[in-house]
Order: sequence, then structure tokens, then C-alpha cells
Amino acid sequence: MYNNRMLRIEKSYTIEKHEKTMQVQDYYENFVDLEKTIQSCKKCDKYGKCWSCPPFNEDISDYWKKYENIDLILLQLHYDNTITEEIFSQEDIDTLLHLTLFNEKTKLLQSLTKKTRKNEEFDDSMILSTGYCNLCPVCTKIDNQPCRYPKNKLYSIESIGGLVTKTTEELFDKKIKWIDMEKGKIPDYLTLLMGILY
Ligand code: SF4
Repeated sequence: MYNNRMLRIEKSYTIEKHEKTMQVQDYYENFVDLEKTIQSCKKCDKYGKCWSCPPFNEDISDYWKKYENIDLILLQLHYDNTITEEIFSQEDIDTLLHLTLFNEKTKLLQSLTKKTRKNEEFDDSMILSTGYCNLCPVCTKIDNQPCRYPKNKLYSIESIGGLVTKTTEELFDKKIKWIDMEKGKIPDYLTLLMGILY
């Protein structure tokens, strides 16, 4: 149930958005390293438990070779001091992420989906999300069953080898900041990076 605190959290941030388009070949040569990203993926509890996360049966580098251009979209959520000065419990951090970062992820995905459906230029394009695919409450991979929506499943940039930190720093001049889970502290901003291959 909603309460005043949740309403305050929803109003606690502003959005900064940046976009960049480049040739996939350039991006692939300079910002993709599957060997590196798989080491990070192995530390995630979703590793091997989602069809859009490694390890893959198919050669994932084919996705990069299939497309000519990539649009990169970076969102920064800037939190006000009612958030950055507070100490959050693990449960409160989950609530905050759902009300802010995950909410903005959903909105961005919806707007990218709308954009790709409306514009011929994006026929046969592929949206790159962030994190794991959450189209289903529980991914069927856990039961070794086929993906429910193979045409719509959401890969993230990092799941197919994209170096997110290098991308934000070198292409957008923006550093990524992380939540300090031990201290329960939220940084002054969090970042989302998504893309469209077309
Ligand atoms: S669409 Fe569903 S089954 Fe397929 S990868 Fe996403 S969560 Fe898993």
C-alpha cells in the first residue's frame, strides 16, 4: 500500500538524459569484450538462470555483426538530499529502486519499444535493456523450458559483451556510481544505459 514516504521517494529525483548514435562496428571494436563481461555475469545470481543472460548456446557476437548502427541512451536519476542523507535498510533500498530506477527503466523500455514500432528505420531492430530480462515473473530457463517470448526477450548491453562503465565514461563523460549496501547509502545519482541495434 502507498504511504507518504513512498510518495516522497517518487518525487525525490530528476532525470538527465543523453543519447548517442554510432556505427556498430566502431562500438564492437572498442566497447565489447565478452570475456570481460562474462566474469562479472558469473558473480550475478541470475547467471545461467535467464535466457537473456550468459552462458549462451548461440554465438552472441552474431548480434553485433547483424546490425549497422547503435543508439545508446543514458539516463541519470539525480536524487535530492532527502535521499542522499538518509540511511536505508536493505528492504528500503529495494523499495526505493522499484519506485525510482526500475520505474524509469520500464518507462524507457516502453518509449524505445514505441519508437522502434513507429519508425521503419528500426524494422528488425533489437532493444538492449539493462540487467536481466524480467518480462516473466520467473524465467523458464530455471525449469529448462523454452523462452516464452523469444522474439521479445530482453538482452542487456552487458549480457552480450558491452562494457557499460567504459561506454558511460568514454562516450558520455559520465562515471557510474553504486549504492553502498553496507552503509545503506544512495549516491547522488544512479545510471541506466540502454540501446537499440538497427
Ligand atoms: S521472456 Fe520470459 S522466459 Fe524469455 S528470457 Fe525473458 S523472462 Fe525468460
